[in-house]
Amino acid sequence: MEYYSTRGDGPVNLDEALRRGIACDGGLFLPKALPEFRVADFAAAESIPEVAAVLLRPFFAGSELLDDVENILVETFSFPVPATRLAVSDGDVSLLELYHGPTAAFKDVGAGFLAACLSRLEGSVDSPLTILVATSGDTGGAVAAAFDKRPGMRVAVLFPDGRVSERQAQQLCCWSDNVVSLKVQGAFDDCQSLVKAAMADTSLNTEHRFSSANSINIGRLLPQSTYYADASLRHYRRTGNKPAFIIPTGNLGNAFACIMAREMGLPIGPVVLATNANRTIADYFETLQWLPRASLQTLASAMDVGDPSNMERLRKMLGEADVLREQLAVSSVSDEQIESAIKRDYLEFGFATCPHTATATHTWRDLDDESRSAHDWILVATAHPAKFETIVEPLIGTTIDLPPDLEEILSRPAKAISIDPTLPALTEVLRERCG
Ligand SMILES: *Cc1c(COP(=O)(O)O)cnc(C)c1O
Repeated sequence: MEYYSTRGDGPVNLDEALRRGIACDGGLFLPKALPEFRVADFAAAESIPEVAAVLLRPFFAGSELLDDVENILVETFSFPVPATRLAVSDGDVSLLELYHGPTAAFKDVGAGFLAACLSRLEGSVDSPLTILVATSGDTGGAVAAAFDKRPGMRVAVLFPDGRVSERQAQQLCCWSDNVVSLKVQGAFDDCQSLVKAAMADTSLNTEHRFSSANSINIGRLLPQSTYYADASLRHYRRTGNKPAFIIPTGNLGNAFACIMAREMGLPIGPVVLATNANRTIADYFETLQWLPRASLQTLASAMDVGDPSNMERLRKMLGEADVLREQLAVSSVSDEQIESAIKRDYLEFGFATCPHTATATHTWRDLDDESRSAHDWILVATAHPAKFETIVEPLIGTTIDLPPDLEEILSRPAKAISIDPTLPALTEVLRERCG
């Protein structure tokens, strides 16, 4: 399969798109054309790795990895992705639990797939590939977990010291020797500038073979489309209906993967983007003007995005706002609404939701009666509430049990190296730790 940049560069094959992450012209890679499927194509696929193998095999055409697709997918989905029916008085509503991976959020899926692919393509014990990640909290943990202990691969995680939660810090700092955790004496923007400066430094780049694992890599999106395929197929077989999805949305990577699955013919009904108070997408649908802006801080912090990068992909694939708003709905949820949704979820469903997931449960409750009863609904749970216990526990008035993987991670010894936010400081620590 050929991949082109949204701005025109290409073609490249999957391997090259995975290696580069972003195209040379600054655009994002998309397959030239999407394969098309019918429900019957998945008749023999029982488990999620099997569904994924049917769905993703065409994307590997021309890749060195083609013969290894099944193994890559078994590695990626080492944990379940169940859809649990909710006890509601009207209709058929489920929660798609994307939080059973090692760091208890959906980013484990994309990071795991990317790690499985890149280590096969580029892993080298003599000259390891070094993944540089700047993180404001969640992404770094998922990437570190995915590359932990992989031979021939290293990760350097840069996070702003004192500006991530205690549990997040632990998830960034508890890995084996091939993960170097760097607490930067600065803000997230400093971490990001450092990564950019390091990548742009030719001699440093030759020495360490830098690569990135950021959320615009096509390798993060492809595996995400498979849990939408799996959940929609299961639902369709059970009910004969195409379920509607409500998806907590920030940079639009997770929702894009769902829309891509629908474009490929999977039985998916309406898709609703649930955003927090960052209204860039909501305003675009209302006014038809695309006006990216600085992000606002909200309780659903992993969705604090004022310039969602994957909109460039969505516009390329489907069209501009006048077309998009006929195919998608969007809701913007305030912090007050997030808080009250967390409380109601706990009372009505009997379990806690994380602040991101609460944007979806709020949006579902807020539907008009006609839309609510016209469809079966799958609400997407993007993280486990125990990751955001400082927000959720006071609202529900009780403590949340940790999922076993997270409990194990939190019990490990943590280590991190403190560095100043300068390229010489980063260079020195990389020489010492990765020489
Ligand atoms: C990253 C993240 C999101 C937003 O996903 P996008 O792909 O950026 O839209 C939502 N919830 C959680 C918990 C996240 O970590």
